[in-house]
Parts: sequence; C-alpha cells; structure tokens
Amino acid sequence: MELKLTRAELEILLQTRHPTDDEMQLINQFKPYGLDPWESSELMRFALIASNNLIHGSGQVWDKNVLETMVASYPGCALMIDHEWKDQTKTFGMIYDSFIYSLPRVSKEGIVRILEKSPNPSEDYRIIQKDGYHQVLVFGFAEATHPIISEISYGRKADVSMGGIFYGESICPICDIPYSDPKCPHYPPYMAGLVDEETLTPYYRRSGKMDSIECSFVASGSCRQARLIDSRLNTFVFT
Ligand SMILES: [Zn+2]
Repeated sequence: MELKLTRAELEILLQTRHPTDDEMQLINQFKPYGLDPWESSELMRFALIASNNLIHGSGQVWDKNVLETMVASYPGCALMIDHEWKDQTKTFGMIYDSFIYSLPRVSKEGIVRILEKSPNPSEDYRIIQKDGYHQVLVFGFAEATHPIISEISYGRKADVSMGGIFYGESICPICDIPYSDPKCPHYPPYMAGLVDEETLTPYYRRSGKMDSIECSFVASGSCRQARLIDSRLNTFVFT
C-alpha cells in the first residue's frame, strides 16, 4: 500500500529506537501463538529502503506492479544476511510492515540525491520523468539483545537488498511490449555478445508479481539506493 505518513510523522517515528504502541500491535500479530505479547523495550526497529523503480545492477527495472506485490507480500518475511536462503542461522528478525512512497514528480534536490548513487543517471532520470519515483519502505524488528543490533547501530551493516521470487515477463523499455512480441526488434542487455549490439536496450523492465521472501543486509546491493534510513535520511526522498 501507499505510505500515508507525512514527512514530519515519519521523522518523529524514526527518532525512536523501540517500536511505538501502534507498531507493537502490528508486530505482536507475528508472535508465536500462546506467548505473552512482546514488549517494545525487548525489540529494536529499523526502517529500510528495500527497492525502487530505477535501474538495478543487473540492468533490470521493477515496474510499479512488481513493487506493489513486493510490498503486499513483505509482512512476515525475514530480515537476514546476504540472501543465504539455505542457512537459517542467517536470519535475525522479521518485517512487520511495508509501503510504497511514490512521487509522481521529484524536486531538483530529490533528483540530485537519487542520482548521486546511480550507475545509469541519464536513463534513471528519464525513468523518473516518465513514471515518477517509487520507493519501497520496509519496517523490521529484531530482538534488542541480538548481536547484529550493535553491527547495525555502529554502521557496519547499512546496505540492503530485497530477496523474492519473480513471476512475470520482461518488457522492452523502447517498445513498451514484451521482448517476446514479434513487433519488438530489441533484446535485453544481458544478451550482449549474442546479438547485434544496436538491438540491445540500455535496461529491461520486469512486469508481474513479486513474492517477497526476505530483506538482506549486504556489502553492496544491486539497487544502489537500498539502505537503512540514517540520520540524514540519505537516499530517501520526500519531495
Ligand atoms: Zn523493443
């Protein structure tokens, strides 16, 4: 869903290390059945930018329909390290809420902040002008005494990356139709070396459904703006 909070409300929320009473109601929906409710003082809460609609390291762009299903399927998913899906020791917390914060138009200051980290600034700029900017926010919690809390608190862990299973198709950003449509003469960028270079598109869009699995702390994610929201509000853009 779209984030309803104003900038002021979000900033106030992020001033607190422990979840508010309203958040505790959401969080306690995930406690194992029969246990006493968790207390706010037992937990630490994080706000993360998990994804957006810009060009990621792999050359792909999530369409808004993917981001919407990513958000809808996020509550209850794990916070973990390095997308190690086959290693249960790498999970340390849970996502309890997720939103899209959309900007149909982005201010000049916002554009500068977004593109600061962009490997494809001119293409990303065109995407923002055409489709707006859509940021996926994830709110997660972990036990306040977990060792990873100090790693996050002291900045050793900050970059994140979303993990999920995508069901959908690849869309040509020039023709606005799937590459599989005979009317599209193009190929996605990962076909480089296999097809005529002039038929490659600078990136490829993915449209469909994302079944979110987890959000990982990583050394460097393929979405350059995906990160813990820090005291500067870093790459998070309000206007
Ligand atoms: Zn095409």
